[in-house]
Amino acid sequence: MKQKNAVTVDDLTVAYNYKPVLWDIDLKIPEGVLMAIVGPNGAGKSTLIKSILGIIEPIAGSVSVFGKPYEKQRKEVAYVPQKGSVDWDFPTTALDVVMMGTYGSLGWIKRPGKSEKKQALEALEKVGMLAFQNRQISQLSGGQQQRVFLARALVQNASVYFMDEPFQGVDATTEIAIINILKELRKAGKTVIVVHHDLQTVPEYFDWVTFLNVKKIATGPIKEIFNDDNLTKTYGINYKVSVQG
Ligand code: ADP
Repeated sequence: MKQKNAVTVDDLTVAYNYKPVLWDIDLKIPEGVLMAIVGPNGAGKSTLIKSILGIIEPIAGSVSVFGKPYEKQRKEVAYVPQKGSVDWDFPTTALDVVMMGTYGSLGWIKRPGKSEKKQALEALEKVGMLAFQNRQISQLSGGQQQRVFLARALVQNASVYFMDEPFQGVDATTEIAIINILKELRKAGKTVIVVHHDLQTVPEYFDWVTFLNVKKIATGPIKEIFNDDNLTKTYGINYKVSVQG
């Protein structure tokens, strides 16, 4: 059976100040995979996600989500940005932030009601943040903010999830909590795309991987392409990871 592609990227080139940071990327991400995007600092990983989400305008190429332009598929897509990339100066509680995630499913002018609040509280419980529901988001630690963002993504009930380094600077317990949620999402048939830094955990956490360094080096199932050859091509040094199992 031919698998549907959740995300298709064609000939994507992105530049900042005329300097290309992504070059002619072709990428097909099959529905239902839990995929890591790996590559060195500055490889263009965040830029790839941002251009798929229409936050950055490419100089060439196109992107589609389930065969349609992203603008038509917003409801299908949830995004957890990189920790620290959001300015939390305005006063808002953890619960408010998660409630915002439900807005996409509400009609014009409709306010979130009891059922949205219930969903938001359930999501906060799932990420272990129920006790912090009334805390100002600015007064949470980075890892806690990350969990709240994840809860917000969960209530969006999207089909495709993008997360930019969700494990950055979180403790071991939070990391396990997050990966369990990601695996749950995959079980529910969602497509999850994660910028990930720790190469050692790639085979344990993910089933699909894309190697990126300005160009796409390789993409596919972990078992087939997570190897020293692709790591060396991506990181430019003789990279060896001990892959267990
Ligand atoms: P990664 O996520 O792989 O670390 P990024 O996508 O953040 O890489 O960045 C890719 C390249 O683009 C880097 O060289 C970075 O310095 C540059 N870059 C990122 N954002 C901007 C920006 N807003 N303006 C100019 N250059 C940028």
